[in-house]
Amino acid sequence: MTKQPMTIHEALRWASLFLQEFHRETPVAEILLMHHLHMTKSQLLMSLRDKINPETLSLFEKDIKRHASTGVPVQHLTGVEDFYGREFQVNKDVLIPRPETEELVLGVLARVDKYPKPVSVVDLGTGSGIIAITLKLENPELIVNASDLSEHALNVAKQNAKCLDADIDFFQGDFLSPFIENDIEVDVIVSNPPYIPYDEEATLNDTVKDYDPALALFADSDGLAAYQQIINNAKHVLKKPGLIAFEIGHQQGKQVSELIGRKFPHSKVEVKKDINSKDRMVF
Ligand code: GLN
Repeated sequence: MTKQPMTIHEALRWASLFLQEFHRETPVAEILLMHHLHMTKSQLLMSLRDKINPETLSLFEKDIKRHASTGVPVQHLTGVEDFYGREFQVNKDVLIPRPETEELVLGVLARVDKYPKPVSVVDLGTGSGIIAITLKLENPELIVNASDLSEHALNVAKQNAKCLDADIDFFQGDFLSPFIENDIEVDVIVSNPPYIPYDEEATLNDTVKDYDPALALFADSDGLAAYQQIINNAKHVLKKPGLIAFEIGHQQGKQVSELIGRKFPHSKVEVKKDINSKDRMVF
């Protein structure tokens, strides 16, 4: 890029061409420029003829080149990702929030009113805290606890809860273990656990494989280990009636339903599709 002052329009054009050469998605240019200029998308589009100051331009250029050459996710460059209309901090210690998980949260919100108040919820493997925090902010009457095995992930979740002013208790530990140890009983268990079988690692996109934490992605037993562990321990914490809500891999609907059916023979199990018509949730 030339070192002459550039307008927003020129910088976006340069960046889009650069990204295309590396077969990267061009909307990344807008996201990174919005981030460096602290502008919303409409502010950016209304300022296309404004000049960008040289320091900002060079930071933008550096990020575009890094993303183009390494594929580092744009969320690791900006340090944030939107989820359910709010901005969450993310880093290498947590799974970057996916839009499918918004549908899991919606599904839980639509079902919690069936349980006697106050309704208590645990989010297992909370990662950046998106599920727990969104549930609490969308329905402040819920009592929300969350766990994660990774202390680093919990630090991110706690920071997000603080910035977004969500009152949640966080516990370090393996899925339900901290709640069993602390005799905490709940109405709702929600989780988006790791569910990718180890032998599918090679099929993943590099930006996932190289940057999302393995702990958040992969599970033994064909990707079912986390579900097995949670379902097998659920009786120690889940009240009756109670709700289990999982995000699942699109080929796991039948197996996860069966796991639940085996432990809770009289329960009603629903497999729900995401907006791409793939099985994505089990309630
Ligand atoms: N609960 C977090 C999310 O939904 C983290 C999930 C995970 O790390 N598997 O993004």
